[in-house]
Amino acid sequence: VKVLVVGNGGREHAIATSLLQSPSVQEVVCVPGNGGTATLPRCRNLGLSVKDFEGIARFSLVNNFSLIAVGPEVPLANGIADYLKEQGLQVFGPTQAGAQIEASKAWAKDLMKAAGIPTANAAVFSDATAAIAQVRKQGAPIVVKADGLAAGKGVTVAMTETEAIAAIEAAFGGQFGEAGSRVVLEEYLTGEEASVLAVTDGLTIRPLLPAQDHKRIGEGDTGENTGGMGAYAPAPVVTPELMTRIQTEILEPAIATLRDRGIDYRGVLYAGLMITPQGDPKVIEFNCRFGDPETQVVLPLLETPLDQLMLACTQQTLADFPPLQWKPGAAACVVLAAGGYPGSYEKGKPISGLAQAADTGAMVFHAGTRLIGDTILTDGGRVLGITALGETVREAIALAYEAVDCIQFEGAYCRRDIGHRVLT
Ligand code: ATP
Repeated sequence: VKVLVVGNGGREHAIATSLLQSPSVQEVVCVPGNGGTATLPRCRNLGLSVKDFEGIARFSLVNNFSLIAVGPEVPLANGIADYLKEQGLQVFGPTQAGAQIEASKAWAKDLMKAAGIPTANAAVFSDATAAIAQVRKQGAPIVVKADGLAAGKGVTVAMTETEAIAAIEAAFGGQFGEAGSRVVLEEYLTGEEASVLAVTDGLTIRPLLPAQDHKRIGEGDTGENTGGMGAYAPAPVVTPELMTRIQTEILEPAIATLRDRGIDYRGVLYAGLMITPQGDPKVIEFNCRFGDPETQVVLPLLETPLDQLMLACTQQTLADFPPLQWKPGAAACVVLAAGGYPGSYEKGKPISGLAQAADTGAMVFHAGTRLIGDTILTDGGRVLGITALGETVREAIALAYEAVDCIQFEGAYCRRDIGHRVLT
């Protein structure tokens, strides 16, 4: 099978790498890909925009790319799966209707309510006055979320009423464009976060290994939110008992309720969870795609051929698919970011030491890079994700940092405490 991967991040580099390990995958093309996917054997980049659904369909049909795996949420929310399916292609990723589970937090909350899925109490507002009145009534801490997609920047965990009101005014003032025209006010939850990515064919849903991300830029989980600064899997906070509860209380009801709404959801359903101090899993958010950087630790541990798993989802045969096979041990990923990220940062810095890092046995996933001639240049905020496998999470983390220390570019920054919850 030939697979076309849509996207250009570390997640897509990890997806392409995993696909190429399958004996049945002949070739992978990434649209538009990055400096990492440009240098993978049997893989190349295609210089089309992810918005060019027609171009992607034409290329896939003419060149017999029968499976399309969509990485990011934006094209899914814009209906890429609907369009490509109409052209007769098999798409791993939900339709526009299914992608609402991520693209509208109000819609997702309503679905969770209908499905009886445990989550933070919430209310939706379409004007600032009513939302501010609610903050005054409820008090802080309180969580303010722009309804739509805001690239991870639409959420404010407000510790004071003043902060909450400022976030509400910013959203209705147009900071997130149309995404902020409605606001969800949510109960503040405490506990430990975990990510459970699951694959589904719309009928059956199978969880992958649980992972833990590190969203804040600073060590000790301080400072601004980012796209994710590192991850590890499996996350011990999700015990086997808890995974069973997540399956029956969250994943299965979600898919059943999507189906009740006429939505045939095929792809990844990602549950961002808070494990409360009482030990109960509650949903913080659903995403309609693989997580980044969770994918960079989950897929390297997967032994089952990824293309076969994706095809079982697109062909709705997941119930008959053999149990997923995992490598023993653990994986850890450390993100190297450009200085200044998640604020403004410079691009175009040459990166050195990539071969030395790979020589340690680690995998270097490119997130924001570009290949110019023979040189890899930085081309984004999150630049690289360095993943290592080990017998334990502790060993994987140590090996990931060993590889990180081989790599240099001007202004490079990483958190030095990835996995601190496991290490302490
Ligand atoms: P991303 O797209 O980066 O995954 P997002 O913008 O969709 O994130 P959420 O995942 O909903 O936003 O929230 C971002 C972070 O804010 C969460 O990882 C969590 O740390 C915190 N958060 C969100 N909701 C709550 C809540 N109800 N209580 C406490 N913290 C929360």
